[in-house]
Amino acid sequence: MSHQRPVRPAPGRQVSARSAGNEVAIVNQDAELRVWIDQDLCTGDGICTDHAPQVFTILEDGIAYCIEESPFGRKVFNDPGGSFELAKVPREQEAAVVHATAECPGECIFIEVVEISPTDLIEQATSAS
Ligand code: SF4
Repeated sequence: MSHQRPVRPAPGRQVSARSAGNEVAIVNQDAELRVWIDQDLCTGDGICTDHAPQVFTILEDGIAYCIEESPFGRKVFNDPGGSFELAKVPREQEAAVVHATAECPGECIFIEVVEISPTDLIEQATSAS
């Protein structure tokens, strides 16, 4: 079975990932990356955790899951095969996640680009202060 790869911008968005050597940048500061893994396809090799240990982890079952770190602790997205729970990628981890997605031998890491509305930005700024 083949899966579409990997950055899937919302329709009409001017969002792209560009690569120059080892540098990958997400072009649009008003967008966030979210990521999920299809665990049915994961080989458990750990390439993703090597690239972005703040975003991916290997659990006891030997396959990879997404995580989110917050002041309240770590959330593990351990609902296998679920695309409905997307882990938010920290800005400083975006390039590493894109690299991990490109190198994932299972082709099972999926990135979504989510537009941030002005209301979201205000809420984020408020909650960060
Ligand atoms: S890189 Fe892909 S196949 Fe390898 S452990 Fe991570 S999600 Fe699984």
